[in-house]
Amino acid sequence: MPTPSNPLKAVRGTRDLLPPETALWNRVESIARSVFSRYSFGEVRTPIFEDTQLFARGVGEETDIVSKEMYTWEDRARAQSEKAQSLTLRPENTAGVVRAYIEHNLADSGQLQKLFYIGPQFRRERPQRGRYRQFWQIGAEVLGPVSSGSESPLRDAEVLEMLATLLDELGVKNWQLALNSVGSAEDRKRYAEILRQALAPIKHQLSVDNQRRAETNPLRVLDSKDPADQALIDGLPKIADYLGESSRDHFAQVSAALDACGVPYTINPRLVRGLDYYTRTTFEFTVPSSGDPASGLGTQNALLGGGRYDGLSEMLGGPRAPGIGFAIGEDRLILTLQAQFDAVSAKYVSYLMHAYIAPIGAHNNAPALALAQELRNGENGLRIEVGDGSFRVKKSFEMASKVASNIILVGDDELASNNFTVKTFISGNQEKVHRSELPSYILSQSAIPNDPQWAQDFFKKS
Ligand code: AMP
Repeated sequence: MPTPSNPLKAVRGTRDLLPPETALWNRVESIARSVFSRYSFGEVRTPIFEDTQLFARGVGEETDIVSKEMYTWEDRARAQSEKAQSLTLRPENTAGVVRAYIEHNLADSGQLQKLFYIGPQFRRERPQRGRYRQFWQIGAEVLGPVSSGSESPLRDAEVLEMLATLLDELGVKNWQLALNSVGSAEDRKRYAEILRQALAPIKHQLSVDNQRRAETNPLRVLDSKDPADQALIDGLPKIADYLGESSRDHFAQVSAALDACGVPYTINPRLVRGLDYYTRTTFEFTVPSSGDPASGLGTQNALLGGGRYDGLSEMLGGPRAPGIGFAIGEDRLILTLQAQFDAVSAKYVSYLMHAYIAPIGAHNNAPALALAQELRNGENGLRIEVGDGSFRVKKSFEMASKVASNIILVGDDELASNNFTVKTFISGNQEKVHRSELPSYILSQSAIPNDPQWAQDFFKKS
């Protein structure tokens, strides 16, 4: 029974997002939407739960996600005619998008499909900072028949260049792109065998988890973050040495296009990524971690990951539809942005209001509300909060400084002269401003220095 001393709480690993932080989420999403539209992506919204088989087949039974982390339940039949079905909350969105591509015959258009999504995903992982059981991803997929150019290395490079642009527009500092090729399905199979052989004599020296992976899915050993195993893993054969000619050529073209666009990257031969469906290009964007306060992420320093999945559509019973996609961890993106704002503007992220109007004396409440109406709906559409004339002036200042960049005093003198006292908290400036000048004055006093342009805009005008 919930009681006042023991009320119900959000489930472990899930969390509420509240204002003012939600304003930052919305801003991030609107920047992502604007970048996606410039690169010709349309939005797709797939269901939050799907047939369990979709993930078992599409993500791979051997992956941690499918074997340990899915929220799966038996959806009981109500009527005799209905069959019980195993359903799963989506742990990722690529499989759902490819299912929708197949189900709606999107291949028939002959065009490349460029689809983006923004939504929650669910994995039963051990919760920690930057790792939740319900988390959000902003992702995109580019896929289509081979004749639409879906296999071209240009697609890979375009997606990567778009991501670099998006992170720069968001104002993420010090991001790093790591790139690798895991080759075609055949290259991968051949390499997995070589890896299994190389692992056999040293397996007993590895952690228990890696011993198991060495048997079931040897590529996953390369992904391991276990510190004790790193030296051994570094000594294993590298996939780059086992790629077939066409995979090597594809990768060289991706790299050349990135060089032409000036997108910096490093090649990380150990980047194979957890999911089974990846072929050829795999990539990850990270921000500096391990104690660097600029990341805000601690050990969970992967901001986003993705890669090419040339065989996924066929694995799900669809036509051949090579593709490439990525998923950004939105929770981690927000933590990074919050940690990277400089001290002044970090404080200002919570100052959502341009101004707080403080009526002096209850008899000035009505004219204060009329001024608020004028500023909210007038020239610059300012964000305004209104106090109450019964508050002492000191209390109005305290309340205002928590929610707004400026305070406007509405007293008898101000109303008689139409000149209002405005104090700007960040600079400490205090000025008398004529009513007609208030919209532009307040806007000019709400800018934040040293921030990405969008953050400055954020506080000027929504
Ligand atoms: P993945 O689908 O595993 O390739 O993950 C893509 C991105 O989603 C990662 O780089 C993370 O930023 C984010 N992510 C994955 N799992 C979680 C989680 N449990 N909590 C928060 N973010 C996550």
